[in-house]
Order: sequence, then structure tokens, then C-alpha cells
Amino acid sequence: MTIDYQFDQDHIWHPYTSLTQPLPTYGVTHASKNQLFLDDGKSLTDGMSSWWAAVHGYNHPKLNQALTQQAEKMSHVMFGGITHQPAIDLCKKLVELTPAGLDKVFLADSGSVGVEVAIKMAIQYWQSQNQTSKTKLLSLRGGYHGDTFAAMSVCDPVNGMHSLFNNVINQHFFVESPTVGFEQTYQHNSTHELEHCLVENSQHIAAIILEPIVQGAGGMKFYHPDYLKHVRQLADKYNVLLIADEIATGFGRTGKLFACEWADISPDILCVGKALTGGYMTLAATLTTQKVADGICNGQAGVFMHGPTFMGNPLACAVANAAIDLLIDNDWQSQVRQIEAWLNQNLKPLADFDAVKNVRVLGAIGVVELHQTVPMAEIQAFFVEQGVWIRPFGKLIYLMPPFISEQSDIIKLADAIKAWLAQ
Ligand SMILES: *Cc1c(COP(=O)(O)O)cnc(C)c1O
Repeated sequence: MTIDYQFDQDHIWHPYTSLTQPLPTYGVTHASKNQLFLDDGKSLTDGMSSWWAAVHGYNHPKLNQALTQQAEKMSHVMFGGITHQPAIDLCKKLVELTPAGLDKVFLADSGSVGVEVAIKMAIQYWQSQNQTSKTKLLSLRGGYHGDTFAAMSVCDPVNGMHSLFNNVINQHFFVESPTVGFEQTYQHNSTHELEHCLVENSQHIAAIILEPIVQGAGGMKFYHPDYLKHVRQLADKYNVLLIADEIATGFGRTGKLFACEWADISPDILCVGKALTGGYMTLAATLTTQKVADGICNGQAGVFMHGPTFMGNPLACAVANAAIDLLIDNDWQSQVRQIEAWLNQNLKPLADFDAVKNVRVLGAIGVVELHQTVPMAEIQAFFVEQGVWIRPFGKLIYLMPPFISEQSDIIKLADAIKAWLAQ
């Protein structure tokens, strides 16, 4: 098969890229386990899990089977007035596995939409409590919550490019990102600015939104569980809801099934996505509590005002059910623990290079932070030459390999980064 690169360059947008000066793309013809096969016959060891999603690897027989069996029954049916067993099975699993109290599930069609839904839930909840001025969000600098308008408005104002859309997006409150690292000693004054913001503005704030423990696309930083615990207490004290965006961290990536478990807290609203379908299809879910659901449904509208066309898509639900079963069958906890040990062994020594500012590892996430921004096209070509798929951004070269990765794969990925640093 030949890939029409010229058409690709001339007509097709890729994520965050220019159409007039496009970066090179690599044609993948097929994929299996943790290998991506390029059209020139080369195979690459995957270090990205297709952005946190493909935790079981590619072309998995059990996930393929779930999809084809469901396709033979029905690929889609509207969710208005109709229900089906794949959705019921999935929501049962989500209610059971997620932190306590989250037992009302909204199925959304992507992570960003799941975040929009979470924000609408929070605002509709306060309307129902006759607190109609509670319409703002409180977010952390360095956060990432997606690319649609409401999601974008709570992303880091600087690297989220708010300046481009300043007149269009809603203005929310931002406080400094958590300063105490995962393994450092927690300082109780870390939430000082956040509490101050709540003292001043809680009558306008519907919810605090954050990524628990790991700030992902906003900088790949790991923060202290006590910070999250503390934010939970402050949300209660100042009468705002807490939205936990676990779209990246959910399903084991950090070493806990959900990152909220590191702090032993339950949010009022939880978003999951990405690894939910094992990286097969786009699907997300927004879970909330009886309290929030009752509020919304006893409020003015009496219903929750959202309903995407492809809500509860049976193919996506079926493959998500199989992906969650695989997590458990594969003993995700020991997979992640092993990867964490291999990342520690093979990435931590890279801290000795002058170009490296910091190396950090949590669960199946490894980050090599440099002093300088990397040249994208050049480093990408270098890694492909080394037989690995690693896609850095800014000053960050990071790995979040599929959970099925073996020791030799992690060594190969780390060696490729080392080779880049050593040249
Ligand atoms: C990826 C991501 C999103 C957006 O999900 P999409 O499926 O890309 O819309 C939201 N929040 C976090 C934390 C993410 O990592």
C-alpha cells in the first residue's frame, strides 16, 4: 500500500499543525501489540499509547472480537427512549470501579465533550439551588481539559492560548498550579491562593476543576496527594463542587485505578475517557452523585440539557466493556508497577545529561524535562530512525507506553532518548 503523502500535506489538518508549513507525517499501515508498522516496512515500538489511550496495545483479539460481535447485532441506535445492554454493562462497571458516591453516568462522545457536560452539570446544579450567580469555574494554571470552548476556557491561560480567543471564551478564575511534587513534603500553605480565591469569589464559583495528581498536556507534572485532599476540604468548606478530570489519569496509568485514590477522595463530578475503550474508539463518561443529579432534576429545567446523537454508542460501549475486563484479567496493577520500575531504572540516569532539567516517573508515565524546546521535525525523525514512536512537546520528552510493554521495550524507548541526548 502506498500512502498519498502529497494529498495529506495539501488537504488534511493534523493536531496543532500548519497546513501551509506542515510537519512531516509517518504513514502507519497496521499495528499490533505495541508495534506500529510504517508503509516503508519499518516497525516502531510505541511509547505513547496513542495519547494515553491504547493501554492494551493495538489490534487486540479480545477487543476486536467485542467490536465485531457488537457490529453484527447493532452498531448504533439512538439513546433517546432506547437503552441497550452494552451501555448498561459499562455504566455498572464505571459505578463500581470509580470512587464512592459517583453513581449517575452520562455517556459522552469525547473527552472534551465530557468536560463540557461536567461544567454544565455544575452550573445547572447551582441554578437548581437558586444560586444562579454561581457560573464561574476555578481552575489551576498548567491544567489541560480539552479543546472545545468551555473546556479550553479552563485550560492554562498561557499555553492554552487564551490570547487567541480572549473575546470569545468565558473568563474564569485561575490559581497557581500545585507547587509541591508528588514525592516532596507537603506544605500546608500550598492552597493559600486557592483558598483566598474561594473566600473572595465563592458566590460566583460553581466548581473547582482539576486533573488529579498529574497535570498532563499542560506540563506533565506530578503533585502531592495532600494537595488534592486539601482542595476537596476547601470545596466543601466554601460550597463549590469539585470536578476531577481523569481523562488522562483514569484506568491505572498513575498506579491507582483512578488518581483520586492517591488522596482517598471522591469528587462531585468525574470525567473519564481516553483509555476507556482501550484506545479503540472515542468515548467518554461523566459521573456524578445522587445529590447533584437530584438537584439538576428538581431544578427549573427538570432534565439535564445535553444529548449527543451518538450517545451511548453500542460499539464504543462494547469495546469499553472488553477493555475494562482486560485491565482486570491482565492484572493492570502489576503491569504498571513493573513499567514504573523499568522507567525508574532506565530514565532516571538520563538526569546526568546537561540538557536535562528533571526526570520524573509515576506509574506508567516517564518524563524527561529539558532546559530547551526540542526541534520537533528533527527529533521525530531521529526517534523513527531509532525504531521508536515518541512524540515530545515543548521541553518534554515523555513516555506513557502500553501496559503490555516488556522490559526490553522500555529499555529500547529509554535508549532512544539517551541517544538523542548523547549526540
Ligand atoms: C485528552 C484530554 C481531554 C480531552 O479529551 P479529547 O478526547 O481529546 O476531547 C480532557 N482532559 C484531559 C485531562 C485530557 O488529557
